[in-house]
Amino acid sequence: MRALLDLARDYEINVSVVHSGHPYFVFGTHRVSDHTRGRAFDVWAINGQPIVSRATPHKLVDGFMRDAVDAGAYNVGGPRLLPGGSFFSDASHHDHTHIAFDSDS
Ligand SMILES: [Zn+2]
Repeated sequence: MRALLDLARDYEINVSVVHSGHPYFVFGTHRVSDHTRGRAFDVWAINGQPIVSRATPHKLVDGFMRDAVDAGAYNVGGPRLLPGGSFFSDASHHDHTHIAFDSDS
């Protein structure tokens, strides 16, 4: 939550999912999702610009993903795979970013 507030200083963030409304397991796996543990949130729009929109600059989304790692996220997913070990990208993350933390603190 602190990281979300950190990011909210620089961005207007539209959060779609925190804890509820997300599958218990990571999609297509039997790993318990970080959402289930209350340690992740999904963002569908940044500064009023939907991530899925072609009009949304890649720079905005990629910069937000990097800033999420700077704010303490250990696992950040989105429409493009960014360099660095903390990022992932897959078909289910073309329309939102997934920001996850490895502890509750
Ligand atoms: Zn997610």
